[in-house]
Amino acid sequence: MELLKRLNQQLQALDDQQLIRKRRTVDSPCGPRVSVDGRELLAFCSNDYLGLANHRKIKLALQEGAAIYGVGSGASHLISGHARAHAMLEERLAQFVGAHLEAPRAISFCTGYMANLAVVTGLTAGDKEAEIFSEELNHASLIDGVRLSRVKAHVYPHADLQALEALLKASKAATKVVVTDSVFSMDGHLAPLPRLLALCEQHHAWLVVDDAHGFGTLGANGHGALEHFNLRSPYLVYMGTLGKAAGVGGAFVAAHETVIETLIQKARPYIFTTAAPPALAHALLTSLDLLEGEEGLTRRAHLQALVAQLDDGLRLQRWQRLPSKTAIQPVLIGDNAETMRAGAALYEQGLWVGAIRPPTVAPGTARLRVTLSAAHNSMEVAKLIGALNALEKELK
Ligand SMILES: *Cc1c(COP(=O)(O)O)cnc(C)c1O
Repeated sequence: MELLKRLNQQLQALDDQQLIRKRRTVDSPCGPRVSVDGRELLAFCSNDYLGLANHRKIKLALQEGAAIYGVGSGASHLISGHARAHAMLEERLAQFVGAHLEAPRAISFCTGYMANLAVVTGLTAGDKEAEIFSEELNHASLIDGVRLSRVKAHVYPHADLQALEALLKASKAATKVVVTDSVFSMDGHLAPLPRLLALCEQHHAWLVVDDAHGFGTLGANGHGALEHFNLRSPYLVYMGTLGKAAGVGGAFVAAHETVIETLIQKARPYIFTTAAPPALAHALLTSLDLLEGEEGLTRRAHLQALVAQLDDGLRLQRWQRLPSKTAIQPVLIGDNAETMRAGAALYEQGLWVGAIRPPTVAPGTARLRVTLSAAHNSMEVAKLIGALNALEKELK
């Protein structure tokens, strides 16, 4: 078949550039130690930052949720799929981050990818006077949201507020939307949110913050990047994901109630999809209790101690650390082939670390993306430190 031949040629071209990706099938729950192909591996690559993905209380809550609500939601939110559990979750999420917003309300989504498509298109689609200002290192889902919105978009260079200010000044758009990740997912450092927000307020622009990696981990109470920076503004539109630190799955947007009502009425990635199983929303209520409670505090403190341990212990010369205080701790190698060899060598030793190449990161900046979790212990982190220090010398 000619069509298959074309696909195979395209796959071969990826293979020739060493860009074919392979999935590994995991036979155990998400955690520091996972079973893959009959081997036990120590994993430093999940985004389960607080180790809640296999938490006993959340698993029980999920079972309870299934007992109360059944399995499927049966329809989209606007038809008959909006269960009491979704409504309770949205109320709870609005409280969770509400101190940083005005007239806060929240809306839940099946995934963060969909939440980002919804928020970017919902705020702008069909608005002929809208323009979007998008940070260069934004997550793919925000980039796709911008594309789907089909409004004029400007990409500003990473963390370059002068460039952004010039763009905002020059813009005549009645609706301006600035879109940024809070924690950059391949680097681990934070966007300059206080200055970004000041700029947005000055130019009457929405500031959409994707806090996928900050929700649950940043701030004294785990409320995320807005708590970390102590921000509050009616211009803020906050997106948090629930499959990373929260350990379950899904996402939400919290903002002024008028923004949320707009998304309910207009955001196609919200309207034209079946609502998530209500049992997940039920389980998430327990997850939020844990994040806000004593256990969240303890887990965030332990995670910070592990980050400091890694920082102290790594003695790298050729490879570079990136300045990150979050659970995302990349080791920049640069060369694609060396990065892949480093990843493979660690894997041989039973250490599973993500090896990230272009186009996920810029050419020449291939890296190991180490992620730490509160579920790791210090012996495990010491093992990773020893392996990385030795490997840098061996691969020379
Ligand atoms: C993971 C992630 C998303 C997507 O969230 P999902 O719930 O996995 O779909 C969006 N933005 C950022 C920055 C992410 O890291």
